[in-house]
Amino acid sequence: MLIHSDWHIHSEASYDASLSLKEIADNARAYGFRQFGITDHLNFNDEKFLGDLKRSTELVREFQKTCPQMVQGVELTPIEKPEFDHIAATGTREGYVPPFSSQPYAIELGQTKAELMAQGVRYAIGAAHWRVDCPDAKNLEPDLNACIREWHRQQMYLACDERVTILGHPWWSSKALWYEDFSVIPRSMNAELAAALKENGKYVECNVHFFRPTKKTEKFRCQYADFLRELHETGVPVTYGSDAHKTYADDYLLAEQYLLAAGFKDGDVVEIKEEHLW
Ligand SMILES: [Zn+2]
Ligand SMILES: [Zn+2]
Repeated sequence: MLIHSDWHIHSEASYDASLSLKEIADNARAYGFRQFGITDHLNFNDEKFLGDLKRSTELVREFQKTCPQMVQGVELTPIEKPEFDHIAATGTREGYVPPFSSQPYAIELGQTKAELMAQGVRYAIGAAHWRVDCPDAKNLEPDLNACIREWHRQQMYLACDERVTILGHPWWSSKALWYEDFSVIPRSMNAELAAALKENGKYVECNVHFFRPTKKTEKFRCQYADFLRELHETGVPVTYGSDAHKTYADDYLLAEQYLLAAGFKDGDVVEIKEEHLW
């Protein structure tokens, strides 16, 4: 067995998930996991997402009384700084008009580390979810090179930001143009990312969704496991994330198949060290 913990799970407190903590804990214990982290979404600094995070921490705090293996985390996503500023000033996303900019927008995350820690959050997954580099990025025709550049920009930001403990699902995107052949992503970019993760003491996530056949070729899945292996060999510790939303299944076994084929051994997929938790 390679995987002994899961650091990326969504509970019913996330807008897009429905798992109860009991179901998560019962299954995680049945799989023999030593620790498992609840990482509900904090996408924006608005009332809705701050409320979801509050609910997540309340649920976890109560449940931890009988389940010390459960750890409170959060999942942060890069958003455009002008939108963050608009919400900070007005309390809502409503009325936000992306300003014209000839440069990619600066990036922000939903809360400061001090604010997260004050709520009992002990680590953060930082993960890119959509383009935030220009006003109409969400509606643009997918352009391979523009998407790769933007994902790399966000991932480098996350690799260097003090709030991020784990870089979550690197190179995930609902519209990813690299799910047939991962080698379209320049090796130099992944070398730069690996160096930044290592230098800043970050973990990287092996997210099981990359090994599902949906949208991804077998070639991609093998290349992706090799990419994780290279990160591991560079000295970036690899954690596991089920990124479960609706059911908590034993799909870590699927990730193990690909990791084993890529040369991972027991001990290579790790827990977050106590000294790295906030
Ligand atoms: Zn995510
Ligand atoms: Zn997630």
